[in-house]
Amino acid sequence: MTEHATKQSTHRFDAEVNQLLKLMINALYSNREIFLRELISNASDASDKLRFEALTDESLKGLDNELAIDISFDPEAHTLTITDHGIGMSEAEVIENLGTIAKSGTRQFLDSLSGDAKQDANLIGQFGVGFYSAFIVADEVVVETRRAGSEPDQGVRWTSKGEGEYLLEPISKPTHGTTIVLHVSKDHQDLLAQWQLQRIIRHYSNHIAFPIRLAVPAEDGDKDKADGDGVKTEVVNEAKALWARPKSEIQEEEYKAFYSALANDPQGPLSWAHHQVEGTQSYSLLLYLPKQAPFDLLMNRDAVEGLKLYIQRVFIMDAAEQLLPRYLRFMRGVVDSSDLPLNVSREILQDSPLLNKIRATVIKRSLDLIEKITKEGGEDWEKFYEAFGTILKEGVIEDFEQRERVASLLRFDSTHSDEVAGFDAYIERMAEDQDAIWYLTAENAQVAKNSPHLEAFKSKGIEVLLLTDRIDEWVVSHLSKYKDKELKSVTTGGLDDKQAKKPSKAAKKLAERIKKALGDQVGEVNATHQMTDSAARVVNDEHGMSIQMQKFMRQAGQPVPESTPGLEINPDHALVQVIEAEGDGDRFNALARLLFDQALLAEGGELADPAAYVRDVNTLLVNALKPADSETDSS
Ligand code: ADP
Repeated sequence: MTEHATKQSTHRFDAEVNQLLKLMINALYSNREIFLRELISNASDASDKLRFEALTDESLKGLDNELAIDISFDPEAHTLTITDHGIGMSEAEVIENLGTIAKSGTRQFLDSLSGDAKQDANLIGQFGVGFYSAFIVADEVVVETRRAGSEPDQGVRWTSKGEGEYLLEPISKPTHGTTIVLHVSKDHQDLLAQWQLQRIIRHYSNHIAFPIRLAVPAEDGDKDKADGDGVKTEVVNEAKALWARPKSEIQEEEYKAFYSALANDPQGPLSWAHHQVEGTQSYSLLLYLPKQAPFDLLMNRDAVEGLKLYIQRVFIMDAAEQLLPRYLRFMRGVVDSSDLPLNVSREILQDSPLLNKIRATVIKRSLDLIEKITKEGGEDWEKFYEAFGTILKEGVIEDFEQRERVASLLRFDSTHSDEVAGFDAYIERMAEDQDAIWYLTAENAQVAKNSPHLEAFKSKGIEVLLLTDRIDEWVVSHLSKYKDKELKSVTTGGLDDKQAKKPSKAAKKLAERIKKALGDQVGEVNATHQMTDSAARVVNDEHGMSIQMQKFMRQAGQPVPESTPGLEINPDHALVQVIEAEGDGDRFNALARLLFDQALLAEGGELADPAAYVRDVNTLLVNALKPADSETDSS
């Protein structure tokens, strides 16, 4: 390689690159081997890109014939060299890709570095900061690259010691693609050995679909196969698309290793499904259910990574957007179609009937996997549900077609037992004359279990599902029925109990007096015998918004429609009886307000005027606790 021009320039790294480099070298020191995985993965991506661009760009035809990745090492010169014959980079691309951190995820990565090296190593691949991991083992890195299709004198050399700046110089490079030379630092010389490199490549990169050729010193008898320097190359990895191999020949370990490479997740998958479909449409589908959620999964609803689309073994694009609904965005895998045209674009994919069919299968197979793990229960299911349950629930809201199927996979706390329950188990336990599935939404299980709304149900032995996840409110608002059984909130006061004792005339009269005292803050006030322990409860009309929902909306900064809840009082309760004995007047009004405010509080609701509540309670306490002959008003 001869120098074409002498124009050199020094550039400073983006401030974030500096910060990242320091953090990474510390955090990942004990996980140093991942640098090779990252560089091989970049070489593989660059090879994929060239093959893809060569499909449509005449000038690149034929350049994608030899897409191997070459690795060599020199213990004397202390170097490790990784060469690909992929797309390469122009000067502008080098500056953009190796001098700055363009990806938005990187900021999050920096913020999320925990100092727990192991976990950081898991995170690193998810953020596209892979290249810089070379500095874990190298004190200088030299990148020589040329964009495929450009002239030989358009090459670029990038050199850096990873300390604030890098050097750029134009070079002449006879071949397109990228060569990265690592000057391996003193502490890591042990990496420069055949067995080490073989081991690391097989461990992390066995399923890279291009051959990874390691140059090794030829043994004596092999000299004829070797080149002039006594070096021969050996292909170290499997180099075959796993999903295209016959299922019967694939070992479990291979499926797991492929997942880890694909998803950058050393934890391995929870389960997987591999389908090879032949017929009017031919495609392979390899789907994985991960064990753990990448940490931005909940927030990042538009994640496009996850499912990779191949056409006849050629990587086309990350196509999670086209192939996965959002509520399954945690799935990982590969789709390889034999029928789609190789030069397909995102626009064409958007409404391709072929792809829509594949998408429907992806959804069905994903739900099959989830259903299987749900049926098996146990630790695997718990892990799955903890990591992805909330996301899965979005399916009830979003996917009209699969609504009931997704709903069947959900589990909730229940008044019936300490175990979580699904709708099907609930229906199985229902009494014959029970016509609805009853639920209560609340902020947490504690609030739910003590709710006054449950008393009537408890005393009649009717099971109530306790929905304590934020999204549950939305789920039930989209699920009015499950298998012909209506879903009803216990807060609507709708338990139609024909045997219940009718309220007395006196109780009805008290309800009227309370309504008068409270005025417009309350809707209807009724006396019923549904509660056993509480004095009163707030009820919503069937279509009104629950107190929970109102709270969420307020927290989310959304306007909450005005609504006035009703009040139900329990004439058997001592407090209600004391209030009844009180004549009309300020004290009666204060007691009525107190009853209402307490019902709101028990619901986890917010009081319109908390200070007034405290004042009322204090006045009552003072009057109740001090000697009977010195009655005053403390307010
Ligand atoms: P990521 O690969 O996750 O995007 P990296 O830091 O590893 O993040 O690489 C940054 C960018 O540099 C890549 O997206 C790619 O555009 C470019 N790049 C890195 N290695 C190569 C290579 N061998 N050939 C071509 N481009 C490369």
